[in-house]
Amino acid sequence: MKLIFLGPPGAGKGTQAVKIAQTYQIAHISTGDMLRAEMREGTKLGKEAKDLIDRGELVPDDVILGMVKNRIQKEDCKNGFLFDGFPRKIAQAEALETISEIDYVINIDVPVETLIKRISGRRMCASCGAAYHVSTYAEPNCVCGAALYQREDDKEETVRNRLVVYERSTKPLIDYYIKKGLLHTVNGNADIDTVDAAIRAVLSK
Ligand code: ADP
Ligand code: AMP
Repeated sequence: MKLIFLGPPGAGKGTQAVKIAQTYQIAHISTGDMLRAEMREGTKLGKEAKDLIDRGELVPDDVILGMVKNRIQKEDCKNGFLFDGFPRKIAQAEALETISEIDYVINIDVPVETLIKRISGRRMCASCGAAYHVSTYAEPNCVCGAALYQREDDKEETVRNRLVVYERSTKPLIDYYIKKGLLHTVNGNADIDTVDAAIRAVLSK
């Protein structure tokens, strides 16, 4: 199974992706997580991407496509994969078509007021990449033991720009995938289990 989770920042793509990837035994490929790992490790790619990410801008397509092409060759992708945060613009979607087919695109629809609340309370684990929300998890550490932190790009100024970038560059993918007959929209403005059930209902069709 090959899936794309589409949606604005804070829609819950990562939260839902972890569960679906586990059930279907497919690789969860978050280009954002991959870039954050590169930044943590201080690689050349990570250093080049940091300034763009901190400003809420997109990283160049050739960098992203290079990472994705490499990633989908890995052994854990043999049953398929779930892209979270990729593709982010039409040019990336067109390039993806030359390297892989896709079975479903799940568009997680969430109103902007909810996105802002979710992003401002998001805390991430630097070690395993898990995402929490301060309203439901007040501990300083992840269940894996590592400290939680607030992403630099989750601060207010950057969030505003990320939402603008989403509207301009990523939202057009909704029409793009409707035309391909691949798009399924689920209501993401509900509790985590309800959204999960809506996604599973689509995938079991
Ligand atoms: P994305 O990957 O789309 O940017 P995340 O999965 O990281 O979004 O979720 C953003 C924040 O919202 C996190 O703090 C997460 O714990 C929280 N969250 C995700 N889904 C829900 C939901 N259905 N209801 C409430 N909070 C949620
Ligand atoms: P995310 O974790 O998906 O919210 O991504 C965090 C940041 O990483 C984004 O704001 C972009 O700067 C960058 N990024 C992640 N995925 C992509 C992508 N597919 N194309 C371009 N930039 C990306």
